[in-house]
Amino acid sequence: MTSQNKLARREDIPETAKWHLNDIFATHDDWQTARDAIEGQLTEIKQFAGKLSDPQQLLDCLTKVDTMEINLCAVFAYARMMADTDTANQSYQADTASCLPLLDQASAACAFIEPELLSLPEETLRTMADKLPGLKKYQFRFQDLLRGKEHVLTTEQEAFLARTGEIRATARNTYTVMTNADMKFPDTLGEDGKLTTLSESRYMQFIRSKDGKVRADAFHKLFTTYLSFRNTFASLYSSSVKASQFISTTRHYPSMLEAALDAGNIPVSVYEQTINVTHEFLPELHRYMELKKKLLGVKELHMYDLYVPVVEKPKTPYTYDEARTILKEALAPLGGQYLKDLFTGLDGGWVDRLENEGKRSGAYSWGVYGVHPFVLMSWHDTYDAVSTLAHEMGHSMHSFYSAKNQEYTNSEYTIFCAEVASTTNENLLLEYMLKHADEKDRLYYLNLYLEQIRTTVFRQVLFAEFEKLTHEAVEAGEALTADNLEGIWMDLNRKYYGEDVVLDDELRAEWSRIPHFYRPFYVYQYATGYAAAMTLSEKVRTQGEPAQKAYLSFLASGGSDYSIKLLQNAGVDMTSREPFAITFKKFSHCLDQLEKIIK
Ligand SMILES: [Zn+2]
Repeated sequence: MTSQNKLARREDIPETAKWHLNDIFATHDDWQTARDAIEGQLTEIKQFAGKLSDPQQLLDCLTKVDTMEINLCAVFAYARMMADTDTANQSYQADTASCLPLLDQASAACAFIEPELLSLPEETLRTMADKLPGLKKYQFRFQDLLRGKEHVLTTEQEAFLARTGEIRATARNTYTVMTNADMKFPDTLGEDGKLTTLSESRYMQFIRSKDGKVRADAFHKLFTTYLSFRNTFASLYSSSVKASQFISTTRHYPSMLEAALDAGNIPVSVYEQTINVTHEFLPELHRYMELKKKLLGVKELHMYDLYVPVVEKPKTPYTYDEARTILKEALAPLGGQYLKDLFTGLDGGWVDRLENEGKRSGAYSWGVYGVHPFVLMSWHDTYDAVSTLAHEMGHSMHSFYSAKNQEYTNSEYTIFCAEVASTTNENLLLEYMLKHADEKDRLYYLNLYLEQIRTTVFRQVLFAEFEKLTHEAVEAGEALTADNLEGIWMDLNRKYYGEDVVLDDELRAEWSRIPHFYRPFYVYQYATGYAAAMTLSEKVRTQGEPAQKAYLSFLASGGSDYSIKLLQNAGVDMTSREPFAITFKKFSHCLDQLEKIIK
């Protein structure tokens, strides 16, 4: 490493580029005091057990829970973010580790609340919030508890079920240990012609190589390794699906899909429609594959060719100051107040921007209720960094407006809505770049749009359909063998990618590479979140003030109602086919433009 690219030490980073964690706790002593107070807070909460039928006692209990959770979240966030700025610092690591048992203790201390509320007569809980004005803010939570009541078992059965939790997690845990620790990959050909030991993270670099031999070699080696464990993977996945089936039948759900979606009150029709609308537009994905084949100039297009950049990255470097100007213009459709608040955050210690020795890589946004959100990233003068900043600030603004407008109990947005605000910002930025780029760079941004939709929508919907088919197979009494799983996987790939893509035999192992399959019916939310964001960004760009207002009130709504309802209020109906139709129309439009430029 030369002295030029040696990373700065944390203490040499200018204060203006660091986040202000002392907005959470002014000193480490204050953090320690807050941390040490939690155990006492938990003891106080436990004393309310058996008293919740009294509205005043209930209010006091829930108020104490909120205060404790706000404190615990701040304590944990502070310790973890300190540790992320300098992962080699042992005392930061120890602080973070000291919070982990508190998280478990807190959920154990509060575990009596929901069963006790559900043991009250329905009418009592339904009208609880009318009895005391202070309880009004919990109305949605009470209502949601009642909605799920028919799937809650007796106290004794619930305790029994909770004890099976660790056993049910065996397949997932084994999968994680096996793929992260035990599986070893062979050496593969690098771009320099030398052999390098393959790993999952290196694979992601190799399949972006311009050298087709490098891509092919990495692909064959990686997938052959997975194939050598095909029966083990089939058995693990099958056990995981059966664990879900155990829960869904015990809780009296008609299907595993229904059980999974019920947590967020998402209708099964939303899931089914996502798949069906995507099917309608598969010919457009096929058209993209045909074009990609032309752009890459290859005789055969293999799955391992899809990640190679077909267009050079724009040469223009963007300094942080230039990025600010770009964001100001690109996000202008969100209105003056949004921009004002965003820049107050950028200048007010929300963002930890520069790389330093020992700082965690990657990027995230973390909202701390009662303080403000925080963003961690590693700035480079590239478009990717501008886009990351737009994305993470999208999350942060969502947290900021939710916290500002909602009581703590209603402030947290759901996973279903989590990527909406970030992707809306990313899309607005992309539209701005497309409008202002020269022809060569436009090609790059068009391709970026297409790749986003391919990987976040088409690919994730393929995953979602795989999950649906495999879970249905188990429900129909069929066994999930390696042969069955591979068959389903290959059929779906043929259907989604079309005839222009060569499906190498080893591709049948790909399903076993996806860790998300151990979180049932989760991935479809990448696609729905993207479609919602695409719809919202199109609306604020083209419909002006009413759409802007609706969008800002969505950001302010936090978790105050069901996701579907909150998005409906913002003008996006996820129960209709519109959001996906708008997304795929954008895909077609980008494809048309790309074809035109190439001609
Ligand atoms: Zn995100």
